[in-house]
Amino acid sequence: KPAPNDLSAYWMPFTANRQYKAAPRMVVGADGMHYKSDDGRDILDGTAGLWCCNAGHNRPKIVEAIQKQAGEMDYAPAFQMGHPKVFELANSLRDMAPEGLEHVFFTNSGSESVETALKIALAYHRMRGEGQRTRLIGREKGYHGVNFGGISVGGIVNNRKFFGGLLGGVDHMPHTYLPEHRFIRGIPDTGADLADDLERIAQLHGPETIAAVIVEPMAGSAGVIMPPKGYLQKLRQICDRHGILLIFDEVITGFGRLGAPFAADYFGVTPDLITTAKGLTNGAVPMGAVLCGSHIHEAFMQGPDHMIELFHGYTYSGNPLASAAGVATLETYREEGLFARAAELAPYWEDALHSLRDAPHVVDIRNLGMVGAIELAPLPDEPTKRAFDVYLKCWEAGCLIRTTGDIIALSPPLIIDKAQIDQLITTIDDALRATA
Ligand code: PMP
Repeated sequence: KPAPNDLSAYWMPFTANRQYKAAPRMVVGADGMHYKSDDGRDILDGTAGLWCCNAGHNRPKIVEAIQKQAGEMDYAPAFQMGHPKVFELANSLRDMAPEGLEHVFFTNSGSESVETALKIALAYHRMRGEGQRTRLIGREKGYHGVNFGGISVGGIVNNRKFFGGLLGGVDHMPHTYLPEHRFIRGIPDTGADLADDLERIAQLHGPETIAAVIVEPMAGSAGVIMPPKGYLQKLRQICDRHGILLIFDEVITGFGRLGAPFAADYFGVTPDLITTAKGLTNGAVPMGAVLCGSHIHEAFMQGPDHMIELFHGYTYSGNPLASAAGVATLETYREEGLFARAAELAPYWEDALHSLRDAPHVVDIRNLGMVGAIELAPLPDEPTKRAFDVYLKCWEAGCLIRTTGDIIALSPPLIIDKAQIDQLITTIDDALRATA
């Protein structure tokens, strides 16, 4: 019989397995702020799973809701019949969403939310007689999941270079990280003009050919890159000027990560569409959602028959189990005031992170809300190795961090307390000092 951590039958493309093979790690349970490792240790979770367990792990209310729903109804096809939980979740999301984004389309992941939002944007223009608007604009270093639309508009070159045949008609604006932003706390004051590149691209192709712009309000997966002050406002203005739809990919920033329900609230900029996933069900059941403005919803309602001429939808859209998890998750966020808690903790978090400024190898520290990034100088011949060494030392010392390239990205559950913040930062400090 193979050992429980024998990977020979389990192929998860591509690099994740290699990191696992380099140092096999297994978790067998989770509760609140901690994972339980297979050798019986409590591991403090500095990453909310993968930016998703914002309320902490295995919260009883969410677990009970899933168990209850599993016993009542397993599946209902959203194309034919509604069921109470999906309506409850849609209404609950509407209450939480930025004003004007009153409609929701359910998906099963962040990647699917992105594909769905891009398709909604394209169909919206076509229904309004502007079928020539087919160009999509993303941003360098943007991460929008791993499906074809997402890697086409995404700006992390390594994520797409092995996959030919991507969407045509895509341009990328520059990312917003400038050398002068190093060690700045929160969002930088300089760089808003980088949004003017959208105007440049619009003029290059003709603004009437552009369907949508998609950006992460704060780019997460590429290593936490902030929008300069006024940048998102500028994007909004340019989009308004030319009838271009603005999509915020809030798969990471949604559900309280910045101390507000959505980054749109935090920055005071309302996009036409928001993509979400992760925190929607606190990571417990796969689910995503696209929030969209009434103007878009109305265009669809007046457009051709969905099932005949205009088809889009997933077998599992709004499935009962995920919907039940979502309802209980949003209730948990509300009842425990977790978004306000994130906002209150953010200054302490910021100070704790920036206390690592003089630690070995650290070349930049960034923070916003309950997100943090510690950028390390890469080893000349082995990029990513240093950060992964730090990762393994933290794991040994009982803390889970995340690395993306040579950047440590942190996003603890919003229930973290100050002593746990101290523990996380001290553990990283020790690991940095013990790393060559
Ligand atoms: N968009 C963003 C901004 C993300 O951070 C992610 C996941 N990290 C995705 C899309 C894709 O989500 P999923 O992995 O659930 O497909």
